[in-house]
Formats: sequence, structure tokens, C-alpha cells
Amino acid sequence: MSEALIIGAGPYGIGVAQELWARGLEPTVVGEPFATWHEHTPDAMLLRSDPKASGIHSPDRRYDFPVYLRAQAPKAAGSVEVTLFRDYLQWVVERLPFRLVRDRAERLERIGAGGGFEATLAGGERLRADRVVLATGLGGHSYLPPSVAALPEELRLHSWEVARMQALAGERVLVVGGGQSAAEAVEALRHSNRVTWASRRPPFFFREPLRVPSPLFKTFLAAYGLLYLLPPAVLRRISAAVFRTTVSPYLARAWNDPAVGKLGTDVEALGLWAEGREVVSGSGERWDQVVAATGYRATVGGLSYLSPELTEALGGAAAVPAPDARFESRVPGLFLVGCLAESTWGPAMRFILGSKQAARGVAKAVGGRTDRRRGRS
Ligand SMILES: Cc1cc2nc3c(=O)[nH]c(=O)nc-3n(C[C@H](O)[C@H](O)[C@H](O)COP(=O)(O)OP(=O)(O)OC[C@H]3O[C@@H](n4cnc5c(N)ncnc54)[C@H](O)[C@@H]3O)c2cc1C
Repeated sequence: MSEALIIGAGPYGIGVAQELWARGLEPTVVGEPFATWHEHTPDAMLLRSDPKASGIHSPDRRYDFPVYLRAQAPKAAGSVEVTLFRDYLQWVVERLPFRLVRDRAERLERIGAGGGFEATLAGGERLRADRVVLATGLGGHSYLPPSVAALPEELRLHSWEVARMQALAGERVLVVGGGQSAAEAVEALRHSNRVTWASRRPPFFFREPLRVPSPLFKTFLAAYGLLYLLPPAVLRRISAAVFRTTVSPYLARAWNDPAVGKLGTDVEALGLWAEGREVVSGSGERWDQVVAATGYRATVGGLSYLSPELTEALGGAAAVPAPDARFESRVPGLFLVGCLAESTWGPAMRFILGSKQAARGVAKAVGGRTDRRRGRS
């Protein structure tokens, strides 16, 4: 029986494991490390977040990203290319001190009345633990607007499916969405496809990365925990504002490209339907493919590996997860971090920025024995 099993080896899963390990526990992490960053971000993308807010969490700051940048890429100036960030993540993986099982959890269930969980992995291994942390990220939560979801699968994809998207060439593509992902999709596609960009309103090109002065940034990080005290409605408004407004300025070139068609409309108003191998709009325009850059909605149902009993215990498939101040769900011993904690912890939980808060919260609840940083009990 492992002391803590963490499902998902992204920034949150690794950050939580690092914090537990530093406190003398022996966590096990299941997952392909940083798969989202390697498989679901466009190759041409620049890091959206400030390097100061993009490092993998460890209490002793052993993976500090700005320090890595200064040592490994001293000439890198301005925004960080995602390829460089992937190199950094690989560097982190090579230095992890705890057990990492490179597999996928296919099922998680509760065992016995006394508590405890069992995860069954794709490779057949079964892992048991008293506490489980779900850190599986945005992957299962892609949102498609109804008219796009109704199209045959081969005629539409979500921006999460980066490999399929980057393989498109010589096609007429309709990109739907007005945020960062839509702009990145248009940028990735416009050189080798004929692109139309449908968005309700013109994107707002913010000055990113924010490059906030260090003292101000540190104050924000220190005060971040107070967001938990805000009423959910206020948090929702903050989330909406954050996700509506920020598109990195380098992507303005995609918007300004005269070869990119623009439709200032909601996709539902386009009246899309499939005709043979084409998608047709009510006004007669035709596309070979629709790319929906329409975001994510984290629900319990998106956690397809949960047993039906656990799904019900978390409020049912349609429920939005809402862990408590220490990231524990309504199932004792089951913790939710990253986007699964957004409804109680606010928008930073969608970014690497929030992983320190999550790691500390879980560690406080789980406890520890030894401080490995200082070698004392
Ligand atoms: C295109 C794109 C660009 C982004 N850019 C930025 C940015 O610049 N800065 C920023 O801060 N954030 C960015 N984000 C947000 C990103 O989601 C977070 O930075 C961060 O990756 C969230 O960490 P996480 O650990 O919660 O989830 P993830 O990074 O998604 O990690 C979850 C991991 O769990 C794994 N997993 C899922 N199901 C299972 C299972 N059943 N068993 C085992 N493993 C499983 C996944 O494969 C994945 O590796 C971006 C997101 C996208 C999609």
C-alpha cells in the first residue's frame, strides 16, 4: 500500500509528489510525464506564462525555471519557445526522486469499508493507497459547442488534438473560438491551409508574458491562498475575465493576415451541417475541417477512470468538482488539484502558477514525517 498515489504526471502531480517527498513520504506517481506539454501544445507556440510562474514546484526550488534558463539557455530572450520549455521538463524528469510509473490509470475504486483506493493500470498493475490525488489535467474535459459536436468526428476536432490539427495541409479549415487556443490554431494552420476564423468578438491581444516586477509577483503568490475565501460567484467572474481577455501579442499576426477569413459570429449562428466530406454553413460556405478551440469544462464525468461508485460519491457525472481548502474532495482521502480545483481556488489552478498552492494544501492534509530538505524529523 503506497502512502500516496498521484494519478497524472503533469506540473500538478509532480509538484504535489515533490512536496510530499520533501516531507518524508514515499509518493508514487502514475502517468507519462508532462504528456500535455509534449503532445497537446502546438510546436510553434510560445509559453503563455511568465517564466517566474512556470517552474515545476519543489519546496527547495530545485527546479527553478529562471535558474535553468540562465544556465542552459542564457541567450534566450523574451518569450520562451515551447520546445525549450519541453527540454526543461525533460531535465526535471531526469531528476525526480520518487517512484514514477509510466502507465495510465484505467480504473480507480474504493476498497473495503475502512478506506483506501485501488488503481488498475493499463499494463495490468494494481496499486493501492490510503490517499489518492487526481492530477489528470484538462485532457478529459474538452468542450465542443453543440453544432460542432453534432458533426461527424472525421470532420471536426478540438484544439486539444494537436497532432491531428498539425497534420492538416491544403484544407479549408474553420477555426472556432476567440481566445489564446484559437489564435494558436490559426497561427499553426494558416501557412498550409485556407483558414476562416469565427469568433464572437475580436480577440484582445494582451501584453504577455506579463513580466510583473518580482516583489509584486511574490506578493500576489503569497496572497493567492486568500482567493479561497472569495464566494464562488466572484471566483467565476475572475475566471471568466482571465480566460476571455488574454491572447499573446505575437499572435496578432494571425488575426492581421488578410488571407485568413474572419467571421464575427457565434458558431451556433453559422448553422453548420455535414454534406458528404464537407461542412457547410447556412450561407453556403464550405470547409473540409472544423477546429474547435472552445476550451474546457471540468466535470466529474470527464474523469473516465473513476468507478461508478466514486463518480456518484463526487456528485455525479455532471457535477463540477469542488474540493475543500486542502484540496480534499467530499470523498475522504481523495484529493483534486489543477483544473479540478478551479471552482474553489480560482483560475490560477489552470496554470502552473497554482501548483505550489495545491502541493502545499495537499501536503498539509496528508501530513509528513521528516523534513528531507533539512534532514530532520
Ligand atoms: C495548448 C496549451 C497551452 C498552455 N500554455 C500554458 C502556459 O504557457 N502556462 C501555463 O501555466 N499553463 C499553460 N497551459 C495550461 C496547462 O494545462 C497547465 O500549465 C498545466 O499543464 C496543468 O497541469 P496539470 O498537472 O493540472 O495538467 P496536465 O499538464 O494536463 O497533466 C496531467 C497529466 O495527467 C495525465 N493523465 C490523464 N489521465 C491519466 C490517467 N488516467 N492515468 C495517468 N495519467 C493520466 C496526462 O497525460 C497528463 O500528463 C496550457 C494548456 C494548453 C492546452
